[in-house]
Formats: sequence, C-alpha cells, structure tokens
Amino acid sequence: MNTHTSAAGATASTAFSSLSLHPATLQNLQALGYEQMTPIQAASLPLTLAGKDLIAQASTGSGKTAAFGLPLLERLNQRWFAVQGLVLCPTRELADQVATEIRRLARAQENIKVVTVYGGVPTRNQIASLENGAHIVVGTPGRIMDLIERGVLDISNIQTLVLDEADRMLDMGFYADITTVVEQCPESRQTLLFSATYPDDIDRLAKRFMREPQMVQVAAQHSAHKIEQRWYEVPAKQKVDVVVQMLAHFRPESSIVFCNTKQQCRDVVTELQAQGISALALFGELEQRERDEVLVQFANRSCSVLVATDVAARGLDIANLACVINVDVTPDAEVHIHRIGRTGRGDAEGLALNLVAMDEMPYVAKIEQLQGRPSEWLEVAELTPAPGGPLLPPMMTIQIIGGRKEKIRAGDVLGAMCADFGYAKDQIGKISVNDFSTYVAVDRRIAAEACAKLNNGRVKGKSVRARVL
Ligand code: AMP
Repeated sequence: MNTHTSAAGATASTAFSSLSLHPATLQNLQALGYEQMTPIQAASLPLTLAGKDLIAQASTGSGKTAAFGLPLLERLNQRWFAVQGLVLCPTRELADQVATEIRRLARAQENIKVVTVYGGVPTRNQIASLENGAHIVVGTPGRIMDLIERGVLDISNIQTLVLDEADRMLDMGFYADITTVVEQCPESRQTLLFSATYPDDIDRLAKRFMREPQMVQVAAQHSAHKIEQRWYEVPAKQKVDVVVQMLAHFRPESSIVFCNTKQQCRDVVTELQAQGISALALFGELEQRERDEVLVQFANRSCSVLVATDVAARGLDIANLACVINVDVTPDAEVHIHRIGRTGRGDAEGLALNLVAMDEMPYVAKIEQLQGRPSEWLEVAELTPAPGGPLLPPMMTIQIIGGRKEKIRAGDVLGAMCADFGYAKDQIGKISVNDFSTYVAVDRRIAAEACAKLNNGRVKGKSVRARVL
C-alpha cells in the first residue's frame, strides 16, 4: 500500500479558508461556528479534496463527519438526481447522527437530499424516500444490500464511498455485506475509510478496495481531558525507584510503564521483580511465543505491570488500564497522547504519571503545546506507600501443554476445573487457547492446588501437563 502518515496540524494551516471549498460552503461553516479545522480535518481535507482515497484513524468527537462530509458534498452535482454519495455505518444511531451533520454541512447547496436506511424498521418509508430522489444515502450495510437487491437503491453512480467506524462494522460481522456493496460501486469512485483502530481485517479491506490510500492518524485529544496527568521531576538515576514508590502509593490493579528504550525496559522490569512486584516486559526482541505469554498474563489479570516500549505496545488491544506511567518522556508529543489514551477509556477515570529528568524538559514543553495546557507538577516526597501489603494481581496463570492442535477448547478446561475439581466459576478467569498451549487464569489462592489437580486429573478424557507461570 502506498501510504503516508500525516501528523495532525503540525505545519498545515487550520483555517477552512485555506482549502479549495466553494465560497458558499465556507460561509456556511462560519455560520455553523466552525472557525478552525479540527486536527483530523486539517490532516485529511487537503488530501480528500484533491480526490485521494483515505484511511483515517479517528473516533467520534474528532470532527470526522465533516472530514468525509465536505469532500463528499464538494463532488456532488445537485442537479443530477442520482445517488452519488454512500456512507456505510455500523448502527442506526450513527447513521442518524451522520445524516444530520451532512445536512447541516449541505445547507449552502440547494436541495440536497440525504436519506437514511437501516434495519430494524419497515422498509416502506425508506423505499418511498429513495423513490423521491436521493443524492446521498447513509445506512447500515445489511439494509443497504437488501435495498439494492430489491432494485430500489442504485449505487452505480456513486462518486464517494465512505466506510465510517469500519472497525465496528467488522466487529459486528458486516465484512461480507460490505464487500458485496463495495463491489457494486463504480471503480472510479473515491473511497474514504474511518476507523478508531486498525485491525488486520481493515488492512485486508483497504488492500482490496482502495487505490493508493493516504493514511492519516490523529491523536485523540478529547480523551485527554478525562485523564489526570501528574508530572514529577526525577533525576534519571532515581527513576526506577520512583516507579516502585508510585506503584506502592497508587496501587493500580493494572498499569503500563512506558520506556523509550529496550535497555530501560529491562532495568525497570528487573527492579520491579526484585521488589516483589508482578511485572513483565514487552519489547521488540521477544519471540512470538514469549510475547503471547506476556500479553495473556497481562490481559487475564495475572500481571500487574507491563513494561513496554512504544513499538512493542503498538496495536496492543488491551482494555482500560488504571494507570499509565511514563518513565521516560517521549520526544514525540503525539506518542504521549497515544500512551496516556490507554487509561481513562469509556466512563473510567484515567491516571497518567510522568517522570521527567532535566534534559527531558523540552519534550514536556512540546506536549504542553500540543495539549494546549500547562502540566501539573508534584513532589516525589508525597508518594507514600498506601496500606495493603505487596501489590499482587488477583489471578495467576496456569499453562496447560496442549492447545488447539490437541482440540482442547475453553469449555473443556472450564468443565474439568468446575465439574471435576469442584471450583466455583468465579475462581476461574480468562481461558486462552493457543495452537500448542492453553492458559487458564485462576484465583491466585487456588493456583498451586489447581495446577496439581490438573496434573493428576484429566481434560477431555486425557491426562495433561500443567505448570504455574
Ligand atoms: P464528529 O466527530 O463528526 O461526531 O463531530 C463532533 C462535533 O464537532 C459535532 O457536533 C460537529 O458539529 C462538531 N464539529 C466538527 N467540526 C468542527 C469544527 N471544525 N469546528 C467546530 N466544531 C466542529
């Protein structure tokens, strides 16, 4: 794929007037109170208005609807009564939201018809709306396919195709529907793909259906407001000790410690383990099997602290973390936003702790500039240990030798643990089956005993070998 990544707003002008938009559109944007482009708009609009295909990593609230709505509207011929723009969305709510925003953006152009179509309601009204003429259709893949098959939706004149929240659509099992729809769009179309994450499936979709897509990634600024960021000035030599103090003070159930180098990762993880803290390192040189084992243990709550470099943590799909600790300040302010975005997801509050040596102060300035606010500095002396003894994760992981190749399934293991050995369901955590191994998270208080029972008992009628990791 011929791609380039563009950092948001780095050098580009952020005034809408710097774009080649119709004067009436510019006026309308002003009337809507859109004075400056958001970062995703600034990074993508110069490309999309020039007709390029685009893959944009952006989530709701970033201004992504205008990022695809404006190029879509710019290419539209309102005097031609054909569906020229098609937006695929995962849900009815999003389809409604997108249609509303496009209608607002289209106020400058006369009589642009935007029709929404989605499942769960009768087709009658949707068909009537389509028959009345539509320039733009926004809807969910299943219903769109249905209406095409009935011959009431003609997509042979589509000029702009948008896949919105593509990762969510794939999660919901829409891959086949999407490909069926896309295949019926003309090849000359422009394709814009928006997604909060970039899993393999999206890559597959992009390779199949997009022409030299440009990639645009923008740090999720808005999420940063829910994350409490604390900054501590710490001499480089004392950083590892201060991480130990932070963990003792805040006692986060799970945290990621980011380092700029592999060596720093090794130093931190060695010290944490020496202090009796359950920590594992994730850096580039690990073999796939080792990497899998580290991630399984972290995800199943058998490991409290993951110590990682940015490269190793890239694409890591882990749920919300209690805390992110930056042992080193990253020289790239966008990377900082990505790092701290691993805490404070959904409704949760986030905590990001930053250790700064004197020579890293210029990096802090860059981060402040990007975030548009000053840092809150605190004293290391305030980090006193909270009561509760050593910080231990709630679970431990038992590895069973044997996995998919031996046809072991999660249900077989759960059956052995509960029905045969008499454990309660809530004493057993996540069960991950790999090709050659199965990893079972169990309440740490029963780990040794459960492992012995596995070694002496049977799974799926066969004896197995197990060990506590
Ligand atoms: P979205 O991420 O598309 O859901 O947009 C989030 C909100 O930001 C919507 O309410 C938009 O109306 C608004 N919005 C989008 N672009 C801009 C802009 N450049 N300036 C101000 N508000 C905007």
